[in-house]
Amino acid sequence: MSNESLKVLDKAEKLISEGRIIRISPLMFYVIGDHGRYFVWIDHRGVKCNCQGFKKRGFCSHAIAVLLLLLRKKYRDTLEQGLRKRLQEQLEYMKRGVYPR
Ligand SMILES: [Zn+2]
Repeated sequence: MSNESLKVLDKAEKLISEGRIIRISPLMFYVIGDHGRYFVWIDHRGVKCNCQGFKKRGFCSHAIAVLLLLLRKKYRDTLEQGLRKRLQEQLEYMKRGVYPR
């Protein structure tokens, strides 16, 4: 894992533990970030966030936090199997700091 992706992962864990991820519908979340408030949602291609970092790099701590949360046992079982697999793959890419678009 690169230094940068480790930092992003740490930030994502912190967002979760501080209760800053608010689920507003099954696949839509509101995230209270350090520098702003963002929407993170899941569509057929995977996770999206409306922050600048995501636009630039294709991943961010907000999107990773939502993936970590959604892939926890209590939510994971409610996801359709294909989508669950795609989200799992995206999380693995983001953890490595690479994200093919
Ligand atoms: Zn973001």
